[in-house]
Amino acid sequence: MQEDNFETLAIRLQAERTQFKEHSVPLYLTSSYKFDDAEDMRALFANEKEGNVYSRYANPNTDELINKMSVLEGAEAGWATASGMAAIFTTFLTFLASGDHVLSSRSVFGSTHQLLNNIFPKWGISYTYADLDKPEEWEKGIQSNTKMIFVETPSNPGIDIIDLEWLAKLAKKNNIMLVVDNCFATPYLQQPIKLGADISIHSATKFIDGQGRTLGGIILGSAKHIKDIEGFARHSGPAMSPFNAWLLSKSLETLAVRMDRHCENALKVAEFLEAHASIKKVMYPFLPSHPQYEIAKKQMKQGGGIVTLVIEGGAEAASRFMNKLKMFSISANLGDTRSIATHPATSTHSKLTEAERLQVGIEQGTIRLSIGLEHINDIIGDIEQALV
Ligand SMILES: *Cc1c(COP(=O)(O)O)cnc(C)c1O
Repeated sequence: MQEDNFETLAIRLQAERTQFKEHSVPLYLTSSYKFDDAEDMRALFANEKEGNVYSRYANPNTDELINKMSVLEGAEAGWATASGMAAIFTTFLTFLASGDHVLSSRSVFGSTHQLLNNIFPKWGISYTYADLDKPEEWEKGIQSNTKMIFVETPSNPGIDIIDLEWLAKLAKKNNIMLVVDNCFATPYLQQPIKLGADISIHSATKFIDGQGRTLGGIILGSAKHIKDIEGFARHSGPAMSPFNAWLLSKSLETLAVRMDRHCENALKVAEFLEAHASIKKVMYPFLPSHPQYEIAKKQMKQGGGIVTLVIEGGAEAASRFMNKLKMFSISANLGDTRSIATHPATSTHSKLTEAERLQVGIEQGTIRLSIGLEHINDIIGDIEQALV
């Protein structure tokens, strides 16, 4: 077994088997664990030995998932949470205190935007937004109290990219922690920690589950940072359920083959859209017309499963297109086997003002497509008939 082959590790890094020698890992539905004796209990609570105590802290299923994710992404350690937002919230609250400042990419997931804009200010945590395609804004945005740089690349739904190696150097030089939301890329396409990031966060709800079944979040980083995360999460309780961890660990076994197909299909869709007269703009990292194409090629294995387009004719044309789709689902989710169309201005980004939306490149005619695993002819066929 090659130590560093992603596909093999994603399948073969399994939790230890029980006396029943099961081939597939069992589901450990237990909230707590027994101690051998009074001394065993004392030593476990005193952190003098490793072992399971309570499933808010750890469980064999979450351990297996975390171990796999850490190895696949080149991180020392990890922590699993109930959702991607729980992972983001836990990371923010572990490392930030009143008076701290976050420098964040402007185009972040809608709920992350809500946290920064409307929830953290009441605890005295401030923020500045910078655009991924404007390096000077990152240099200028750093303040004496900046504790964290937070970035999503590729961004949602604008599919902008920033050079993570460059950003990690800027963060290090200024003694600031770099946190990357790696949800769109997954560990298969991009490994931020290897590029210098301190923390990589995933909404496992998306491509890692890949079948639209469950929520989950993962935080990856150095052993020291994850120890800090643990200190907060053990007591605040954003734990992932054992069932979800079991499901997500199984999903990782097929991540590579699924991502290969998502990316292959998405590139074909992007090329089709770019050549279509009703389309004003197409954003896909591996289209040579993408403004950060060279950076995408450098830091991503492939372009991912999301294609964002702007249709000619604004809101009216966008809703006509959505309503004419026969196979695509209209849903706010992404990273599913089923192809999905979303209209960000009226759904995921409806809480932003029109001006804020335009700043992150969301027009009334913007549509985000999550390209699924159906036959490519059916995917393109559905888009084509909806565009006429
Ligand atoms: C979905 C998503 C999240 C939030 O994840 P949940 O599992 O829905 O809580 C965070 N970041 C990005 C980029 C996402 O797409």
